[in-house]
Amino acid sequence: MENPLLQPSALPFGAPRFDLIRPEHWKPAFEAAIAAGKAEVDAIAANPAPATFANTVEALEFAGAALDRVSGLFFNLLEAESDDAMQQIAEEISPLLTEYDLYISLNEALFARIHAVYEQRETLELAPDQRKLLEESYKDFARSGALLGPADKKTYAALEEELDLLQLKYGKNVLDATNVFSLEITDEAELEGLPQYVRDAAAQAAREKGLSGWRFDLSHPSYVPFLQFSARAELREKMWRAFNARALGGPHDNSENCLKITDLRRRIAQLLGYADWAAYELEERMAKNMGAVRKLLDELMAPSLPAARREVAELLAWAREHGYAQEQMLPWDFPYWSERYRAEHYALSDEQLKPYFRLEDCIAAVFGLATRLYGVQFVERTDLPVYHPDVRVYDVQDADGRHLALFYADFFPRPGKRSGAWMTNFRELAVRGGVEERPLVSIVTNFTKPTADAPSLLTHDELTTLLHEFGHALHGMLAEGRYPSLTGTNVARDFVELPSQLMENWGFEPAWLHTFAQHWQTGEPIPDALVERLVAARNYHAAYFQVRQLRFGLLDLAWHAGVRRSEPANDGTIADSDHSSFAGSDRRTSVLDVESQALADCAVLPDIPGSCISTSFHHIFDGGYSAGYYSYKWAEVLEADAFSLFRERGIFDRATAASFRENILSKGGSEDEALLYRRFRGHEPDPQALLKKLEII
Ligand SMILES: [Zn+2]
Repeated sequence: MENPLLQPSALPFGAPRFDLIRPEHWKPAFEAAIAAGKAEVDAIAANPAPATFANTVEALEFAGAALDRVSGLFFNLLEAESDDAMQQIAEEISPLLTEYDLYISLNEALFARIHAVYEQRETLELAPDQRKLLEESYKDFARSGALLGPADKKTYAALEEELDLLQLKYGKNVLDATNVFSLEITDEAELEGLPQYVRDAAAQAAREKGLSGWRFDLSHPSYVPFLQFSARAELREKMWRAFNARALGGPHDNSENCLKITDLRRRIAQLLGYADWAAYELEERMAKNMGAVRKLLDELMAPSLPAARREVAELLAWAREHGYAQEQMLPWDFPYWSERYRAEHYALSDEQLKPYFRLEDCIAAVFGLATRLYGVQFVERTDLPVYHPDVRVYDVQDADGRHLALFYADFFPRPGKRSGAWMTNFRELAVRGGVEERPLVSIVTNFTKPTADAPSLLTHDELTTLLHEFGHALHGMLAEGRYPSLTGTNVARDFVELPSQLMENWGFEPAWLHTFAQHWQTGEPIPDALVERLVAARNYHAAYFQVRQLRFGLLDLAWHAGVRRSEPANDGTIADSDHSSFAGSDRRTSVLDVESQALADCAVLPDIPGSCISTSFHHIFDGGYSAGYYSYKWAEVLEADAFSLFRERGIFDRATAASFRENILSKGGSEDEALLYRRFRGHEPDPQALLKKLEII
């Protein structure tokens, strides 16, 4: 049997051979691809001709194509369709990949050639994307230790390798700790308050495990509605405590990993000459430095914190009038009372809306919106292989019929798929040897599955999630350019959420909702009154949720900016861990100390001993948002400011959409993001736009 990972797919548009890939293909494919990549790099480094942009910088951009192909498939499946075998392979290949990265980044002959081209940059007459590619290539090397002396280079390599393994371990612990818990109910009385769709899904989950009754777990479609609707406070508390103590102590404890990961990052940053990890990371962002980030968080927090406390106080007072016996609003009671208050005051619950948001209608409507704004069409392909029967694939075509991308969509939860929702690429846009390879884009979500009696019906939040991930997907699918590292969503981390968060706005526009929202059983269009209340309810508890996001941002900075109080001074050693002498309970205390120091001044709900955010905070520990969680808010400011232009000129205005496509979506990271934004909007982004949108000021 030939290994399908070892050559480009011959299927239309280069669609991956998901039908042929077997677990035993991965490791040999990685080994062969790494060997091929090294040979290509060697050829560039040993080229006897003088270094030029084409024979060095551009050649390096396109080196390792086979490895990009294998990695682009493997790491996406590791998130979406994983099992113990995949995790095992990931652990085995992780050191090989780190070694490959270092083979390039510590290659002195290669860097000497890039350096030589970089020195001539003013006289080379490069196009803007070429200039950016040259600068980024040079900086990549410098930021990966190319300017270090021999001993420091060895230290750097060891730190990076340890960090990679720890991040993998952290992610696996969160997945295992999430999967290990379930709440099994056999007494129907204990389902009090839960709507029918929640009961049905739980009954199905129980049946799939060979159980009678109802089974709830910590995946979002199970956990979130349970907290919102269960009338049994003691069961809500049980679920909440399990969710918020994931990977804190026990067999999947992440306390030590939190300390070690952030300690390693700080040491890497300092080795490279930065004050801390945040300084190192922010150099590559639109924000550029900590001052700008603190300013953003402070400017948003100042009016939002008192507003959030007012919201909770009002909710508590109302709950107490309705039989709530606690003196303060407890965290497992907040979602329940918040939902009850919302249902009464806005007469609007997820249950009322869901019948109007059949998944199939929502998908068609989101595609239709892209057609209306950008002229693109989606044609389903049932002949191309997928990695799970739930996955669908579409050929995306421009207004003139030109193929833009393949778009994969994977909507439903299952074991081995991580929770949450994301967009990714199996393959980036590239022009290799004059041949354009269009992107292979995917979105993955965890929406409520169809049951025997009902199709998949989305909550309004899930519709918003679909719009969000689709916004990222547009950034990938509408990409233009030639260098994969500068196209699509390969932009500054604090800019990447602009297209996604912008798309969410349409989910609150009656003129769009009325184009598709109809009752899945009766076909009756969504009533105007319901849409009006949906829009009115949009900013319900907006200050609370803003503070929640700002707190995550502050916690991230507490881990990654400055030196923590509980942290031993860096003595320059690397082989043994600074924390190896800590007992397990001390490690947990250290993690909880970091949290309480970071968050004490901005608490809105009481702190519950035994709960912890950091031990299951994927984004900042193994998800690429380290020293970057603030960027959600940064992008919300961009988005609020940007959407105001659509408001001004019409939400389906083709000219505004064309400008957004031209200046933002098609450009990727080929130019400075601040410049791209100004070209679209005509001015600098302003935090007041977000505070106004949320009606906090
Ligand atoms: Zn996003």
